[in-house]
Order: sequence, then structure tokens, then C-alpha cells
Amino acid sequence: MNFDLAAFRAEFAFFNQQPDWVYLDNAATMHKPAAVIAAETEFYQTFNANVHRGAHQLSQQATQLFEQARDTVAVYLNASGREEIIWCSGATSALNQLAFGLMGTVLHPGDRILISALEHHANIVPWQFHCQQHGVLLDVIPLDANQQLDQAEYQRLLALKPKVVSMAQVSNVLGHIQPVAAMVQQAKAVGAITIIDGAQGILLQQPDVQQLDCDFYVFSGHKIYGPTGIGVLFGKCSTLELLRPLLYGGEMIQQVSFSGTTLNQLPYRLEAGTPNIASAIGLAAALRWLQQWDQGAIAAHKQQLLQQLFDGLQQFSGIELISQVQNNAGIIAFNIKGEHHSDVAALLDQQQIAVRAGTHCAMPLFTAIGKAGAVRISLAGYNSPQEIDRTLVAVSQVLEILS
Ligand code: PMP
Repeated sequence: MNFDLAAFRAEFAFFNQQPDWVYLDNAATMHKPAAVIAAETEFYQTFNANVHRGAHQLSQQATQLFEQARDTVAVYLNASGREEIIWCSGATSALNQLAFGLMGTVLHPGDRILISALEHHANIVPWQFHCQQHGVLLDVIPLDANQQLDQAEYQRLLALKPKVVSMAQVSNVLGHIQPVAAMVQQAKAVGAITIIDGAQGILLQQPDVQQLDCDFYVFSGHKIYGPTGIGVLFGKCSTLELLRPLLYGGEMIQQVSFSGTTLNQLPYRLEAGTPNIASAIGLAAALRWLQQWDQGAIAAHKQQLLQQLFDGLQQFSGIELISQVQNNAGIIAFNIKGEHHSDVAALLDQQQIAVRAGTHCAMPLFTAIGKAGAVRISLAGYNSPQEIDRTLVAVSQVLEILS
């Protein structure tokens, strides 16, 4: 199937509402197709009841839609059961649940956790905080000269027998795709619990969690054409059972009395409180909608845009490219030599080109590569070659203004 860019783009009202903008900040959040907005709106307009609680039919219908959404996610990830899908507000909350939930159950003083130098703060700070509290040691896989994870160092750190290995599938700054499938296997060989932060990797291709064989896989809905405020913590039941819940309250209990409380079964044990029902339904709508398109064709289109952008930027002698184009999920980090990244982004913003500048919630990565920050362009399937052309013209103007 060929990719019909015009038809794909037409699914997003944003481009009609804001025809003058070029949106290249997709790693921060993506636009939502009509199907997602309609699913959320329909829920609020037609049902709008709480789930698992009401005696009335509206609540039962809401519960059905909500649980069907869970099933959609389970099928999408090829999970082996619906109880392996835990709703949360996003990758950050999922990683916080993991860091909190493994401390004291799996992780004890003197144990080790292994993450990498290119992680998003969401996969650093929760570990760091709880490690300090519990006397657990945090090791970091460094980058090699090509800004890839140093695999020799990984082997050395695995030999220290970490109990948990948690790593990003794709760097949110560089776009580089990490060899997580192989790394998970190696981590499992030393008995570690494995976590993949799929926040930027969920769109690479449909993940098969059984094939990856990771213990946990997390992602945010808003980075796969879905709503904000909803995300997924996938876990194998056996490892989900090890987690101490982060939140306590309604829904996650079976029996409560002042002499004690018994907890509910999975997945509800890890879902205290009223969930983001509409957004769960919206995320399922995003996944169903996405599956109507040829994923390979979208990926090929994105790859062409990436190459066009990379080649164009490379033409300018004033540009310092930080990302490599090979094995890249569609993100380019760069700087204008001698200029501050924020100035570059502000000048692009004046030309209605939306990019991000700064350290992108990955300060240790910037320390590792010895840079103060970068401008980041992140692509999505709805971007067009014309938009890349316009961006390159805008960059040339920025270069001229700053020269
Ligand atoms: N991990 C990575 C790699 C990310 O890119 C992000 C989002 N920028 C997160 C985690 C956190 O996602 P969220 O803000 O949606 O919780």
C-alpha cells in the first residue's frame, strides 16, 4: 500500500486550524486525529459515568468501553493477557510506579540498578531518589564515541549483577534507536528484571512484548497520536505481582476495615482512584485508527523526511549536527555553531516553525556529550517534504540573521 500523505494529514484538524504552522515538536507531543477526538467527545457526551462502580447502565457501558480499551492495548502490544495492562497517566507515572514498587520488594540495600546515560529524566530521577532512600546503587551505561550505548561497558556492568535494567528504546534527544531486544536478553541472562521505556519507541513499529520478553514496557498515549494524561504500564503478571502499589484508595482494594485491607487483583491493584476513562478510550481509538494505515509506508515516509532534513542541514557550514541519521527514529538534534539553542528556536518560532530547544529532560546526556543544549526537530507521519523545505529555508534565514 502506498502512503497517501494528503489523506493522512486530512485526519488532523490542526492543520486546517493552523495552516501557517510547521509542527516539528512531535517527540514532545503529537497531534490527534479526528477519530481520537471523536472517541473522547462521544464518551463525555453519551456516557460520562464512572467505571466499575455504578449500579446503573451508564456506568456499565462506560466500564465496558474502558475495559475494551484495555483489551485493545493488550492486543496491540501482544500481551498475553488484559491483566498485564495497567493504566497510568503516562510514561513518567509508570516509571515512578516501577521505581517505588520494586524498592523493598525486589531491591534491597546494596543491590544495583542499571540505566543508561541517554535516559529521559523520567527514567533517572525516580530511581535516583528511591536508591538514595533504600541504599540501592545506581549504575549508568556510558555512551561510546558515536553516542551509542557502550556495549562493552554494558557487559562489564551486567557482570555486577544488577537486579533491574531500565532503558529507553529510542533517545528522545538524538533519535537513536537502541538495541533493546538484544540488551534485554543479556540482562535476563544475569537474572535482571528488564524495563523498556517505550515513550519514543512505541511508534517505531508495533511492539511485541512477548517477543521482546521484557518484564515491563511503558509508554505515553500522547506520543502515539493519543490523548495526554493516559499511558500504559505493561508488565508480565509475575513481575507486576512484585510491585508495591504507589497509590492507595478506591478500586485497588478488595476488603477494607480498620484492622486491615486486602488488595484487589491485577490490573486493578495498581489503579487506585478514578482513572482517566475518556483518555483510555481515546488511546484505544488512536491505536485502532493507526492500524488502518500501512505502518511500513508511514515509517518509510518519515525516513525520507529525516534524510531530506539531515541532507539539507548538512549543507549549511554553520550547523553542527548532533544526531546521526542512521538507525534514527525521526529526531534530529543540532546547534548553530556559536549560538545559543534557545535563540535559534525563538527565531524559528517567529517563522512559525515549532521545534524544541534545551536539554530535553536529559541533562546527563548533554553532560556526557559536552554540550549546553540543542535544538531538536522531531518528525511525524503527517509532516511533508514541503514542510522540511520551509524549515530549511527558515534555518538559512536564522543563520543569516545571526551571522
Ligand atoms: N521517556 C522518554 C524517552 C520520553 O521521551 C518521555 C517524554 N518526553 C518520557 C519518558 C516521559 O513521558 P511523559 O512526559 O509523557 O510522562
